[in-house]
Parts: sequence; C-alpha cells; structure tokens
Amino acid sequence: MAGASVKVAVRVRPFNSRETCRNAKCVIQMQGNTTCISNPKQPKDGAKNFTFDYSYWSHTTAEDPGFVSQRQVYKDIGEEMLLHAFEGYNVCIFAYGQTGAGKSYTMMGKQEPGQEGIIPQVTLSRENERQRESEKEVRHMETVQIQQVMNPLVVEDLSKLAVTGFTDIRDLMDAGNKARTVAATNMNETSSRSHAVFTIVFTQKRRDQLTSLDTEKVSKISLVDLAGSERADSSGARGTRLKEGANINKSLTTLGKVISALAEMQSNKKRKSDFIPYRDSVLTWLLKENLGGNSRTAMIAALSPADISYEETLSTLRYADRAK
Ligand code: ADP
Repeated sequence: MAGASVKVAVRVRPFNSRETCRNAKCVIQMQGNTTCISNPKQPKDGAKNFTFDYSYWSHTTAEDPGFVSQRQVYKDIGEEMLLHAFEGYNVCIFAYGQTGAGKSYTMMGKQEPGQEGIIPQVTLSRENERQRESEKEVRHMETVQIQQVMNPLVVEDLSKLAVTGFTDIRDLMDAGNKARTVAATNMNETSSRSHAVFTIVFTQKRRDQLTSLDTEKVSKISLVDLAGSERADSSGARGTRLKEGANINKSLTTLGKVISALAEMQSNKKRKSDFIPYRDSVLTWLLKENLGGNSRTAMIAALSPADISYEETLSTLRYADRAK
C-alpha cells in the first residue's frame, strides 16, 4: 500500500438555466490541477486555492474551450480503478457535492453517445474484458447489486442479480434508478435524498493447465452516487425532511472521516490499528470491505461554477481537500 492514497478530483459543470437567468457570475477558475474559488463578496482578496489529482473544467460560455469530456474522466479515474480491481483490490468511486452540481452526470451520465458516465463505461469495459478473457480460457462471473441507503438505518436492495452482459447491467441500472427515491425540496430543483450504491462483484478464475487447479480472485467495485451535500438548514427543509438532512450530513461527515483516516494510513502517517469510524454511519458500515485495507478509493467532487452557490461550493472543496 505504500505510496498509495485516495485519488481526488473536482469537476465544475457549465451554468444551468437557473444560474443563467439570475445572471450568475463564475467564481471558479482552474489551472492545471489547481482550483481557485473567489469570494463574490471580496472579489479582490477572498480567493482560495486547492490542489487535487485532477481539476476538471467545463465550458461556462459557448466560446469557452478546455472542457473535459466524460471519456477523459473515465480514462483518468475509472480505468485506473478498474486496473486495481483486476489486480484483486476492492475499489470505491464516490461522487460528492450539492444537488444539481453534476454527481449523477459524472457517475451515470446520459444515454447519448459520448455522454455516458463512469458506471456505464466501467461495465462496458468489463464486458469487453470478459470477451477477451474467455478467449484466454479465463472465466469469471459477475453479480451486480444496486442499493439505496436511506436514513437512518434502511438499506434497501433494489436489485441483486448474476448478470451475463452489458445489456443486463444497463437494464438493472435503469430499474434501480427508477426506484431511487428523489424528492423536490425548496431548492426548486430535485434533491437526491439517498445514496445510490452500485456494486460489481467479480470473480476471476484461472485454471492452471498443468495441475488443473482453479485459483480465484474476488474483488468488488463500488460506484457511489452520494446524496446531495447541501445543509438541511439552507434547503428550508422541515420535519422528516430536516431529520433526513441531518442523517445524510452525518453519513457524509463519517465518510469524510473514514476516507481521510485511510488516506493518512496509506501515506503511513497512521498505524493500521488506529481507529477508523466505519460503524458511525450505515454508508461506511456497508462499504467497510471496500474502504478498508485491501482497497483503493477515488472521489470526484462536483461543483457549480456560480456565485450564488459560493458557500456550498467552498464547503465541497474543503471536504474534497480533507479526503486527500
Ligand atoms: P446531481 O446529481 O449532483 O444532483 P446532475 O448530475 O443531475 O446533478 O446535474 C445537474 C444538471 O447539470 C444535469 O442536467 C446534467 O446533465 C448537467 N451537468 C452536470 N455536470 C455536467 C457537465 N460536466 N457537463 C455538462 N452538463 C452537466
């Protein structure tokens, strides 16, 4: 594990129609892997810089070049994590951020050519690999599980199935997504109130030609579209919604603590026996196997470019910064 750490990327999306209508200004700048956010109230000296493994730009105006495609995000992060899975590590990729910042777009994307997110690209690549492997007489099975983590202690299995190919996975994903609870809050846009965990379990079996003995390598890839990170108080939620908001915050905070504890452990600043608070939230407890010792983790934090989301975006950048 020496030298390994949590991969952290941030990705800013283009302005949405609400922001354009409100004449929002862009507060994000990116140069290389550094992201700079300026405080709209102190444009001169309120800027803060953060450095990540990747800072992904999107166009905010039609003339703006330099936008990073779905394919590139997959190549940088999905492909590396897939390689770790082939080596037998468990891997986890999280998308974190405010509702509407681009988590689902990054993880799922759209069903248009070139618009597919990490999940369809990972599963498609598994399918290609499977075909190549069968030529080499290496067999494997896959099970795909989609889970919705609600609050405070409900883990709902939307589907769990042995799948044989990409179309099965796509069907399953569609069904899981339809079943996922999405509710509108006072933010005017839909707010995802649950975490969606998409897990691929795969077993690589190899038969030794001489001894005819089978060896087996099992690893799990978990792709997690987290619930919106906006604070319950800023979305104007009341009653049950407010309670759900508090529980989501708790699980996101715990996830942050677990990831930074692991990052410290992997860079040898922390000993293996040191406490990692997996049990403090359902999400981390569920992903314990995928986050612990034999694993690799990546996080993509989704950002709005707009001044009207400054506070939330700054808190997302701080969260991502702590995960490094
Ligand atoms: P979230 O899952 O964080 O709530 P979404 O992924 O649904 O947010 O994104 C909100 C909207 O912004 C969607 O219409 C999505 O297609 C668009 N969007 C998000 N990120 C990007 C991007 N990088 N490039 C283009 N459009 C994006």
